[in-house]
Amino acid sequence: MTVAIKVLTLFPDLIRAGLATSILGRAEQQGQVAYTVVDIRDFAVNQYGTVDDAPYGGGPGMLMMAPPVVEAVERHRGSPQAPVLLMSPQGEKLDERLVMALVDEAQRAGELLLVCGHYKGVDERARQLAITREVSIGDFVLSGGELPALVVIDAVVRRIPGVLHDGESAAGDSFTDRSEGGLDGPWYTRPPEYRGLRVPEVLLSGHHARIAEWRKQQARARTRERRPDLLGGDAGEADPPEGPPAAEDST
Ligand code: SAH
Repeated sequence: MTVAIKVLTLFPDLIRAGLATSILGRAEQQGQVAYTVVDIRDFAVNQYGTVDDAPYGGGPGMLMMAPPVVEAVERHRGSPQAPVLLMSPQGEKLDERLVMALVDEAQRAGELLLVCGHYKGVDERARQLAITREVSIGDFVLSGGELPALVVIDAVVRRIPGVLHDGESAAGDSFTDRSEGGLDGPWYTRPPEYRGLRVPEVLLSGHHARIAEWRKQQARARTRERRPDLLGGDAGEADPPEGPPAAEDST
C-alpha cells in the first residue's frame, strides 16, 4: 500500500527539493509513498496572500493564522484517522521509538500529514482544531518547521518495509532492535591502511561468526562509552568487551 505523505508549508520549494533526493525520492518512484506538498498560502485569508498576523497582546514577530492552517489540513486530510503532525519545539521529542509509532499510524491510515510552522509559530487554535500530535526534533529552536518535517519524513520513510534495499537495511543501525536499542559500532571500507591507521584484522579475516561477535562487542562498548543512558537496568555493567578497544579508534 502506498502511504500518502502530505506536507503543509509556506516554503514548498524547500520541501520539494528534500523529497526528490536520494532514498526519499526513490521511495516515491518505487510506489511505497506518494508526496503532496501543500502551499498554505493557497489558503490565505485574503487576495493579498495573508497567512500571518501580529500576536494579540503584543510582542515581537508574526504568528501564522489559524484559518489557513486548519483549512489546508481539512482540504487535504483524506481520512479522519490520519495523523496530523505539527512540527514544534514543544512537541514529543523524536526518537526511533516515536518513528516506529508514526510508521504504524501512517500505514494504518494510509496517510501522514505534517504541518510546518514559521515565524513565531502558529495560532494555538490551529493546534487545537487540526493537529493530532506535536513533534520536536530536539531542544533547540529553528526558524521554520520545514527542516524538521524533512527529518521526520526521512526517519519514517526509511522504516517503511521495502523502501530500503537489502544492502541498506536499517537492521543494526543505532537505536534499532538488532543494536539492542544502543549505538551502532565503527565501520571501515577500503583501503585497508590509511595514514598508518589499519582496519581491525578481524574484519579482513573472512570469519563471519567472529566478525559478527566483534561488531556486537564494539557496538556495546560504544554505547556504554557514549550513551550509557540507552542501556536499560544494570546492562551498563554487564558484558564487558573482550580485549582492548581497536587501537585505531581515536574517537
Ligand atoms: N515560538 C515557538 C518557536 C517557533 S519557531 C516556541 O518558542 O516554542 C518556528 C517554527 O519552527 C515552529 O512553529 C516549528 O514548526 C518549527 N520548529 C522550530 N524548532 C523546532 C524543533 N526543535 N522541532 C520541530 N519544529 C521546530
